[in-house]
Amino acid sequence: MESIKDKYNEIKRQIPDYVTIVAVTKQRTIEEIKEAFDAGVKIVGENYIQEAMDKYRHIDGLQWHFIGHLQRNKVKDAIKMFDCIQSVDSVRLAIELDKQCAKLSKVMPILIEINIGGEESKYGVKPEEALGIIRQIAELPNVHIEGLMTMEPYFDDPEQARPYFRQMKRLFDEIKSQNIPNVEMKILSMGISNSYEVAIEEGSNMVRIGTKIFGPREY
Ligand SMILES: *Cc1c(COP(=O)(O)O)cnc(C)c1O
Repeated sequence: MESIKDKYNEIKRQIPDYVTIVAVTKQRTIEEIKEAFDAGVKIVGENYIQEAMDKYRHIDGLQWHFIGHLQRNKVKDAIKMFDCIQSVDSVRLAIELDKQCAKLSKVMPILIEINIGGEESKYGVKPEEALGIIRQIAELPNVHIEGLMTMEPYFDDPEQARPYFRQMKRLFDEIKSQNIPNVEMKILSMGISNSYEVAIEEGSNMVRIGTKIFGPREY
């Protein structure tokens, strides 16, 4: 069986250098995460605050990105641990992040999560509302918008996800062209294990990969 290291290196070889890999570590053990770190993984993505807290204190040297749905009552815990919140999906959440970060004199890098497929089962801002919401969040001094994130609709054949990735890139470029103060638009986080190649072709520069590094998850 291929090791975590082999699998990570294989992905790393396939993709251009400018693309950042976030290793998605939900349901993975501390041992598996350490193995990934030894293989060269620098950023991990976690979906749940409690699960992340249990692991975080056992592992040094990694950057932690939050990629799950963040509830406002978990913000205090989240900002102690995470280096980036990729899943900001409302002005209300951003206001709470700003308020709690101010108390710690911290500025939190954030991405705005877009529900590009308009799916009811998914979180994220509607594409047509993104610009207005970003303008409001940009006013908050203790959060810093660095780009967009999306979880595209799932297809067995990733070619079918291509139009969604393309739409994300268009939105990303449109927001970037507005040159909004306190908005950087440098990260476009999209593409998972079965779709990252198509996502990169369409402009992704950050991919979030779980299964393809660690093997299948148990549900
Ligand atoms: C689980 C998850 C991923 C990784 O999915 P894989 O198919 O295991 O690569 C990426 N992004 C988010 C938001 C996730 O929840």
